[in-house]
Amino acid sequence: MVEAKRRLTVAIVGRPNVGKSTLFNRLVGKRLALVDDTPGVTRDWRAGEARLAGIELTVVDTAGLEEVFDDSLEARMRRQTERAIERADVALFLIDARAGVTPLDHHFAGWLRKGRTPVILVANKAEGAAGRPGLLEAFELGLGEPVPLSAEHGEGLADLVEALLPYEPKPEDEQPDEEIWEAWDEALPDPAEAGADGAAEEPAPEEPKALQLAIVGRPNVGKSTLLNALVGEERVLTGPEAGMTRDAIAVEWNWRGQPVRLVDTAGLRRRARVDGKLEKLAVADTLRVIRMAHVVVLVLDAHAILDKQDLTIARMVVEEGRALVIAINKWDSVENKGAALKQLRDRLETSLPQVRGIPTVTISALRGQRLDELLDVTQKAYALWNKRIPTAQLNRWVRGMVETHPPPLVEGRRIKIRYMTQVKARPPTFAVFVNKPVDLPEHYLRYLVNGLREAFEMPGVTIRLLLRKGS
Ligand code: GDP
Ligand code: GDP
Repeated sequence: MVEAKRRLTVAIVGRPNVGKSTLFNRLVGKRLALVDDTPGVTRDWRAGEARLAGIELTVVDTAGLEEVFDDSLEARMRRQTERAIERADVALFLIDARAGVTPLDHHFAGWLRKGRTPVILVANKAEGAAGRPGLLEAFELGLGEPVPLSAEHGEGLADLVEALLPYEPKPEDEQPDEEIWEAWDEALPDPAEAGADGAAEEPAPEEPKALQLAIVGRPNVGKSTLLNALVGEERVLTGPEAGMTRDAIAVEWNWRGQPVRLVDTAGLRRRARVDGKLEKLAVADTLRVIRMAHVVVLVLDAHAILDKQDLTIARMVVEEGRALVIAINKWDSVENKGAALKQLRDRLETSLPQVRGIPTVTISALRGQRLDELLDVTQKAYALWNKRIPTAQLNRWVRGMVETHPPPLVEGRRIKIRYMTQVKARPPTFAVFVNKPVDLPEHYLRYLVNGLREAFEMPGVTIRLLLRKGS
């Protein structure tokens, strides 16, 4: 193979508004490779290819994730950063030279210093005199000399190149081009080995025996009441478990043969005690619980449904790739149930369009009504989350989709979808091999996701698509 030099993978990190997206666009321009970047597909990062003074780069940016949450900036920045630099050769840590060094920058610098990924400190917005004070302050961060840059005006790129040169991959760690894409996915199987029915998909991971269920929601929606109703007499309380917080109690029981374990119930009880006070949604806590869960039941109050916090949590669940079930509680006290239900469903569809068909159940935790239905739906969501579609079926389906609506022409040439395979479940994640992944438009990805959801009956489940180069 000629020209098989491995690309240098660069992650752009930093607090919001320092100019990450501007730099990304400056480097990558229109040659943007969308990876998991479709409404309806959880987005982990966006990556694009760039060439900077002869250095071949894969650039990763996480800026778009910021809008997802509206609380705990530090927690979400840390998570974003971890993801972005996980596979990067080097991190470009941006600060705003005009704004100077902020406490958040200091925090960030602290984590980055502890990590293994080398860091290049970049003082952005350094054009003109306004950036000079920030440039000096930047030394305090203990990350060496800052590279002054103006992403917007394209100044300082030569200095950036110089800073990147030491990290340029050496010929001995050459890699064929396709592997660069693979590096973005989680240990994807070789399609050639995947077999006609996709038998060579990922080796079955250690399946935890129980369905891990989390109950989340704003204060006062009825989480504790629901919890207590679920953990009825016949259900078994077990002791503290390894891997959970010290004061957490795991509650486990069987539901129609399926062991179910409630996670982080102690946290719920603890919070329930401060009931009545003005209590803020603890996003960091909620996120922790969501990450421990397979299925997350988001409890809403039938009288105050889908406010900003509800949506924040719903998006966290989707973004973390968990199965989401919505329980509309206090249904006993709703007067005109028919009208209310219609309104709620409409609202869900418009507020969370990215995951069509999220299962919703109206319940009364207080009276123990429709809790069986809730558990039923939970179990079904769990099954869909675990769903695997054989490769042969997938490819038959994708051929049909392409025949109905071929991908567009780009510069007179047809984009070709070569092959598709499910690379993992929990949530269902598919690799799509395309001759020119960079050019496949977003609306086409949406078409595929919606099509998958319909054809294989996966309503309400997060579906992830990974674009990969396949010639
Ligand atoms: P992100 O949140 O870190 O991705 O930041 P953005 O790329 O969205 O940029 C935040 C703001 O800073 C935008 O208004 C940009 O136009 C502006 N900006 C980005 N780079 C520069 C720069 O080099 N100089 C100046 N003056 N402004 C910039
Ligand atoms: P949490 O903060 O989400 O744990 O909410 P709680 O479980 O403490 O419930 C908050 C309030 O809503 C309490 O006064 C409950 O009695 C009430 N509540 C909970 N579930 C229901 C329900 O199904 N119907 C009605 N009418 N009230 C409920």
